[in-house]
Amino acid sequence: MYSGPVFDMAKTQFQRIADHLDIPQDQRERLLMPKRLVAVSCPIHRDDGSTAVFQGYRVQHHLTLGPTKGGTRFAPSVDVGEVAALAVWMSWKCALAGLPYGGAKGGITVDPRALSPHELEALSRRYMQELIPFVSPHTDVMAPDMGTNEQVMAWFMDTYSMYAGHTVNEIVTGKPVWCGGTLGRREATGRGVAHCTLRAMDLIGMVPQGATAIVQGFGNVGAISALSLAEHGVKIVGASDHTGAYYDPRGLDVQAMSAHAQAHGSLAGFSTELAFDPEELLTQPCDVLIPAALERAITAGNAADLKCRILAEGANGPTTPGADEIIDDRGDIFVIPDILCNSGGVIVSYFEWVQDLQRYFWTEDEVMRKLYEALDRSLGQVLDMAKARGLSHRNAALAIGVETVRRAKETRGLFP
Ligand code: NAD
Repeated sequence: MYSGPVFDMAKTQFQRIADHLDIPQDQRERLLMPKRLVAVSCPIHRDDGSTAVFQGYRVQHHLTLGPTKGGTRFAPSVDVGEVAALAVWMSWKCALAGLPYGGAKGGITVDPRALSPHELEALSRRYMQELIPFVSPHTDVMAPDMGTNEQVMAWFMDTYSMYAGHTVNEIVTGKPVWCGGTLGRREATGRGVAHCTLRAMDLIGMVPQGATAIVQGFGNVGAISALSLAEHGVKIVGASDHTGAYYDPRGLDVQAMSAHAQAHGSLAGFSTELAFDPEELLTQPCDVLIPAALERAITAGNAADLKCRILAEGANGPTTPGADEIIDDRGDIFVIPDILCNSGGVIVSYFEWVQDLQRYFWTEDEVMRKLYEALDRSLGQVLDMAKARGLSHRNAALAIGVETVRRAKETRGLFP
């Protein structure tokens, strides 16, 4: 039921790790296959009076370590296999970060840009309403992902709260600060990507001032990664979104790009002079390449042509197993794998959930300090594991995540 290119990718990665960890065959299916899949039809009234129905999904991968946790994606590409793969990756990500969560993911097959604000609100509320029997602050906690944002999270929280009869802040994370969100959540993923990148630069003896970076995707993760690196003196020479790409070896004005994207909803029309072929952008020379859009951006077809020193994976699953083999053989790229590099988002989501449960809120400095400590701890563990076992950074990160879940399942028994 999950078969498709994205779930196949998660499965191939898992099999490699399971072989490495010598996980018995009869434990593998239990570890990989999601615990629960909910599929929902979401009807809404469109502004023209017609009715439209959208298909939505929620996959809860495992409940062994606590509730499941994961984003909700609104995109035309959403299907069951993609959602399931993203849920599996969330599990390994949460386990690597030491969070008391299993992975989940949800989504609706829709282009949110094609909906009016009223239609988007109706669809968001209907999706949460359909899922109320299957989620709770101690069962499954949603967050934003591609195509969703703080406003959508506020609608989710409000819909669930109307059903509960009181405000339940802790049902979703990534909410606006004035609706029970935490300081630093919106920026957490991008700042985390930048933090990991700066650590990697340090490790390979690269100085941020004057180093160059290219970012694919200019949404929450891509834009904030670019802005944070620029604050440290990194020159952003290329950036793209779904409408096009821009390249300038002298450095792009990322502040102006961010303002343009906020004002117009995308980078479309940012510049005609600097427009560039999006396919070619990834293989331009740069010190840091940050894929921060969709899965499978780096494939066996372009991996040999990459000209970066650091690959910082802002997106989930941007590099296929075929590309991994080529990158491992090359040996000249420092890979910061997705489940480490973009884990700032779920780490600060965890902080938000903890604050909501306690009704006690932290300062932004406290949030960021704890985030960077958590990322440094995970990075240290990954590098130690990679060195001790001769593994790639990705396989080391996955091995830590998978082994954490395996051990808990073995100790607890068959229930979760
Ligand atoms: P977003 O919706 O805010 O932004 C997505 C960006 O990608 C947009 O700029 C969009 O135009 C661009 N894009 C889409 N298709 C593209 C294409 N073919 N080429 C170039 N750009 C394209 O989403 P986001 O929250 O920034 O998520 C981006 C990625 O990061 C996803 O893989 C998501 O799963 C992952 N991620 C997000 C978070 C988070 O906290 N938001 C956390 C961890 C991982």
